[in-house]
Amino acid sequence: MGTGTDVSQTDSPEEVSFDMVDTYVLSSVNKDSQTVYKQLELQDLEAVFFDCDDTLYPSSCKVSEQVRKNIQSYMNEKLQIPTDKVLDLQHSLFLEYGTTLKGLQELYAIDPYEYWSYIHWSLDYESLIQKDSSLRSILQWLPFRKFVFTNADKTHAQKCLQALDIPEEIFEDIIDVVSVGFNNKPDPKSFLAALKIARVDNPSKALLFDDSVRNLRAAKNIGWHVVAVGNSSIEAKEFCDAWIPSLHYIPCVLSK
Ligand SMILES: [Mg+2]
Repeated sequence: MGTGTDVSQTDSPEEVSFDMVDTYVLSSVNKDSQTVYKQLELQDLEAVFFDCDDTLYPSSCKVSEQVRKNIQSYMNEKLQIPTDKVLDLQHSLFLEYGTTLKGLQELYAIDPYEYWSYIHWSLDYESLIQKDSSLRSILQWLPFRKFVFTNADKTHAQKCLQALDIPEEIFEDIIDVVSVGFNNKPDPKSFLAALKIARVDNPSKALLFDDSVRNLRAAKNIGWHVVAVGNSSIEAKEFCDAWIPSLHYIPCVLSK
């Protein structure tokens, strides 16, 4: 159970203020580009996939910032990479391989579980991530098969959910990078593996919520519906089906 403060006193999606939501969304995007706010067809979907980091919780939680620092420490202390080389290498590996982990596996044959124990599992999740009863209610209300789909490890996703006070059981499965054979997003193999795990034959029956523009673009390129989440993904509005500031706005893009 998380010990943080609830981000909202809202206990059910019915209590979400839709007037406020509409105004906020439309005023947060280019008003000449209404396509970022079109309604998706509920009946076309078979499964909904949620990225974990900076999607299930906001980037303001600073988890990713802390993880980046931990990765830099890992590269310096465990792999003896000089401090002045770490930042550039981390950045280039992330760009080339999709995750720093994948790059370090290729170049240094590191043990992913040792890596995760260093960069993730030592995090003070419950002080970084606040409980979110509003999001829990929205996810419970959402009438679709739901999956967490993350480039991280399952334990990390579980700890994030615990801190959010969102039961893991809301999701049919947590699809982590191990589940997809370490072919992480945005590699198309990752999306195909996720579809197989979810037993979804047609990519157009899948919907991804993610904060990463390149992940969203890769999913869109193979036929998924995609919704960009968070302010950093606003550039994704050019190709995404919808853009929302946070998952609390799901009722705006998925309604009957
Ligand atoms: Mg993310």
